Amino acid sequence: MYHTILIRYGEISLKGRNRSKFEDLLINNIKFALKDLPYQSIKKAYGRIYIDCSSNWEAVVDALQRVFGIVSLSPVFKTELELDAIKKAAQTLMENAQGSTFKINARRPNKHFPLTSMEMNQELGGFVLRNFPHLKVDVHHPQIELHVELRNEAAYLYHTIIPGLGGMPVGSAGKGFLLLSGGIDSPVAGYLTLKRGVNLEAVHFHSYPFTSERSKQKVIDLAQILANYAGRGEIKLWVVYFTEIQKALQRSKYPELNITLMRRLMLKISERLAKRENALALITGDSLGQVASQTMESIHTINAVTNMPIFRPLIGLDKQEIVDLAVKIGTYETSILPYEDCCTVFVPRNPATKPRIDQVLEAESQYDLEALIAEAVEKTECLTVTKSVELF
Ligand code: ATP
Ligand code: MG
Repeated sequence: MYHTILIRYGEISLKGRNRSKFEDLLINNIKFALKDLPYQSIKKAYGRIYIDCSSNWEAVVDALQRVFGIVSLSPVFKTELELDAIKKAAQTLMENAQGSTFKINARRPNKHFPLTSMEMNQELGGFVLRNFPHLKVDVHHPQIELHVELRNEAAYLYHTIIPGLGGMPVGSAGKGFLLLSGGIDSPVAGYLTLKRGVNLEAVHFHSYPFTSERSKQKVIDLAQILANYAGRGEIKLWVVYFTEIQKALQRSKYPELNITLMRRLMLKISERLAKRENALALITGDSLGQVASQTMESIHTINAVTNMPIFRPLIGLDKQEIVDLAVKIGTYETSILPYEDCCTVFVPRNPATKPRIDQVLEAESQYDLEALIAEAVEKTECLTVTKSVELF
C-alpha cells in the first residue's frame, strides 16, 4: 500500500562536513541492509532520506530497523499535487489508522501549491470529519496525526512513526576488537559498541578439545547475529587457539590467580591482533562486581597488562538489564545454549577476588609469556561471518 519510506536520522550536534560524511555512510549502510530486497531508489532531501519501494515495504521497514543511525521512519503514501488525489490518499490512510481523535499536520515547502498549510489543515480536517463520523479533532494530544507534506514533485502523507535504533552509522567511528565469549554479556557489549558507529571485529579464545566444536559454532552463530547490525552485514571473527596456554596455566603454582593470568593473556593477544589490524580499542562484556574477575581490584590488575583503551559498555548494567537487551537484539537464545566455555572448564576452585599486581607478576614469571603469546597469535584463524537474513 505504501510507496516510500521516509527516514529521519541524525545526532543534532553533527555539522558541516561531518554531517555529509554521516549521511553518505548511512546511505551506504542502508544499501547493504536492503541488498536482497526490491526498491527503486534511495535519495537524500530536506535532511531526510527517502526510499521508493512499491512492493514489499514491510520487509524494507524491518531491515531498516536494524540500521544504526536511523532515529525513526515512516511508511509514506506518495500522490499527485492535486486536492482530490490527496483526499483519496487521506481516506485510505485514515481507514488503516487506529484511534478516535485526530489532527492534520500540513507543511508546504512548495509555495506554488494553491492552499496554505492552514487552509490544507482545514480542508482535509473537514473531509476526514465528514467521512469518519466516529473521529473527533484533538489538536493537542491526537491519537492519529496525519502528516501532509506538499513538495515540489509530489505530496507525501503518513501517520505512523516507527522508532529506529538511533546511534551512529557503523563505520563512523574507528575499528574496535570485541572479546566475544559464548555468554550473554559480550554480544550485548558488541551491539552497544556498534551502536556508536564502531567498525567491529571479534576475537574468541577457543580451547579445543577441552571446549567442543559446538562451543565454537555457538560463537560463530552469535557473530552472525551481530553481523545483522554491522554496517556491511559481516563481522570478522578471529579464533585464537588457547589450549596450550590453558595447559600451561594448569601447571601454575598459584592456581587462585589463573583467571587473572588468563584474562591478562586474552587482553595481550587481543591487543597484538588489534594493533596489527589497525584497531584503536578493545571491548569486553565486563559488568562491575558480576564475578571474581570483575571486581574493581581484578579489573585494575587485568587492565594493567595493556595501555590500549578498553571499552566496557555494560559496566553499570545489572544482569537483568543485560538479559533484556540480549533478548531484544536476538542473541539471548543462542547465548544460553549449554556448551562449555574455556573459562568454565578451567576455573579454579577459589579464584582471587583481589589479585595484586606484584603477585600476578610473580606468577607470570614462571612462564615464557612472549613465546606463548607469539605462538597463539601465529596460529589464529580468521573467519568472515555474514549476517543471516532468516534470524528474526
Ligand atoms: P559473558 O561471557 O557473556 O561475558 P561471563 O560473565 O561469563 O559472560 P566472563 O567469563 O566474566 O563473562 O568474561 C568477561 C569478559 O571476558 C567477557 O564478557 C568477554 O568479553 C571476555 N571473554 C571471556 N571469555 C572469553 C573467550 N573465551 N573469548 C573471548 N572473550 C572472552
Ligand atoms: Mg560477564
